Order: sequence, then C-alpha cells, then structure tokens
Amino acid sequence: MMDWILKMLKKLLEVKPEPIKEIEPVITPEPIKEIETVIEPEAMKTYKEIKRNSPNSSRTMTPQGIILHHTAGSYAGSVAWCLNPTAKVSYHCIVNTNGERTVLVPDNVRAWHAGVSTFNGKSSCNNFMLGVSVSGNTNAREITEDETNSVAEWCVRKMKAYNFGIDSITTHRHVSAGRKIDVDERAEKKIKDKIVELLKK
Ligand SMILES: [Zn+2]
Repeated sequence: MMDWILKMLKKLLEVKPEPIKEIEPVITPEPIKEIETVIEPEAMKTYKEIKRNSPNSSRTMTPQGIILHHTAGSYAGSVAWCLNPTAKVSYHCIVNTNGERTVLVPDNVRAWHAGVSTFNGKSSCNNFMLGVSVSGNTNAREITEDETNSVAEWCVRKMKAYNFGIDSITTHRHVSAGRKIDVDERAEKKIKDKIVELLKK
C-alpha cells in the first residue's frame, strides 16, 4: 500500500515537458484600434449650467450652508416663476431631472427660498444659507440619478468654496419644521450619500 502511494506521488511530481510551441503563422495585422478611454460616468459627468438673474433677491451674504428644496412645480415652470418679480421667491439654483442646472442668484446675494426658518439656533436662513432645489414633489417621486449627482456636485463646489461641511447641508423641512415638507427624507439621504462619495474623490 505504502509503496503504491509513493509511486503515485512520484508520478504526480514528475515534471512534464512543455508542449512544443507551434510556430505562429504570419498574419496581416488588423488596423490599430483607438484605445477607448474608460471614464467613470458619475465621477466625470458635469452638467450644463445656465445663468439667469432672478429679481427676487436682495442684499449680500456669506454662504454658511445649503438648504435643499423641491419646487413642487415643473423645472421650466419653476425657473420662469423665479424670474417673475411677483413671485417673490427664488433659489440660488434649480436642478432639472436630467441634471441641468439653472443658476438664478449669485452665491453672495440672498435668494428668497427659506422664509421663516431656523438653523443651528440662527433664524432667517436666507441671510446665511444657499438654496438649491429640484423640481416636482420629492414626497411623491424618487429623485433621479442625474438630479442626485448634479445637486451633490453643486453642493460640493460650494462646500469647498465657502469651507463648510456635510452637517451644514439641511432641508427646508428641517429649518421650517411643521411648515414645509421639502425635501423628502429619501431624497435628502440620496443627495448626502452622494456628497460624501464625491468628497472622498
Ligand atoms: Zn422649500
């Protein structure tokens, strides 16, 4: 028995000669294909940004954070409404479902988006918070990947420019509790998760 096992082991350990390589036939080379650049779409994608001037703004401010909103109306309708002086409402930026952004008020000017509101014990958030909004109702629909990416991309840019962290990103629902329902918790989580992801890059 032992002998047989040893014999088998010896056989297994025997070095097998490499098979003789076949001579490669000469073939006409295919034209060299261009190397495709692999890009991470989410990390690389930047969204179209349109600049407009909303009359619904006043006085200067230094951004210390961002309030996330939804407009309830359509993107085009909301942009048009914010350009109408009778509306007396505006956001610094409105984001479309395809990620396109319309910037309505410069960062250093107060947009009229928060109304009666309190953040970290400070009232009148328009005095120190930027406002960014998606269209429609986030309680009734899930925000798209493009919206998520675009809002997060915009937020990260402001966070870096004005030196504030993720704890300074809040929602209208939080700063005007009991009065406002935007944005939905799922939308808030999606956007914040994306911001955290972008900040790691
Ligand atoms: Zn709002």
